[in-house]
Amino acid sequence: VLRVEDIHKSFGGIEVLRGVSFDVRRGETKVFIGPSGTGKSTLLRCINQLTPPDRGRVWLDGEEVTNSGARINHFRQKIGMVFQNFFLFDHLTAVKNVELALLKVRGMSKAEAREKALTELRQVGMEDWAEHYPAELSGGQAQRVSIARALAMDPDVILFDEPTSALDPELTREVLEVMKKLAKNGMTMLVVTHEMGFACSVANEVLFMENGVVAEQGSPDLLLNDPRFTRMKDFIGRID
Ligand code: ATP
Ligand code: MG
Repeated sequence: VLRVEDIHKSFGGIEVLRGVSFDVRRGETKVFIGPSGTGKSTLLRCINQLTPPDRGRVWLDGEEVTNSGARINHFRQKIGMVFQNFFLFDHLTAVKNVELALLKVRGMSKAEAREKALTELRQVGMEDWAEHYPAELSGGQAQRVSIARALAMDPDVILFDEPTSALDPELTREVLEVMKKLAKNGMTMLVVTHEMGFACSVANEVLFMENGVVAEQGSPDLLLNDPRFTRMKDFIGRID
């Protein structure tokens, strides 16, 4: 469903991504790990063109996302993104946060948008909190609302950039449970996270990034048990 081909990106003469390529099949979850500053966030941003790459291409279902001009808004709907800090609108209730793009981008009627927003909130276990404002939600609840907001666009793939790293362990667990459920229901997901438990139980493949490239990649089993994956294991040893 998604093809990432030789992505390069520099900031101020420093090459942050130095040729990253991979394919994602429908329903797959890929987890990205690696030290700070190796370009994981930049990679996700290049995929949905929040940051245009200097070189390389991204394809979604055989259509080019890079250089897609006016179609970029179409692709941004199809490639959802969930951030570490949620980015909810503080002056809107949970359900209004989810409705917003349905009304403005997809042009739904108020009634349709409300119904769809409530359906997505139900998916993440937040239906009872629909009328609450972000300030009244825990971090885990706020993150689940932001996942519902991404789901509302019926994306082909969702990119998660450290969705739980601002949360304490209890709240992390509830967000990971929601993500596990999405994976099980066949959502295609790219997830930057240091949650190795999640990676091992959900990921089809773990990609270890270092210095702007994918240094090692493989199934979780392989990575943990095969002695060749030394750098990744060093890294995991340091985070756990
Ligand atoms: P972390 O694990 O800390 O989130 P990361 O792997 O996500 O790190 P990136 O955020 O992609 O790393 O950043 C990679 C490098 O690119 C860093 O050195 C960062 O300072 C730099 N960088 C990222 N975005 C920009 C930008 N908009 N302008 C300038 N430099 C940037
Ligand atoms: Mg990052």
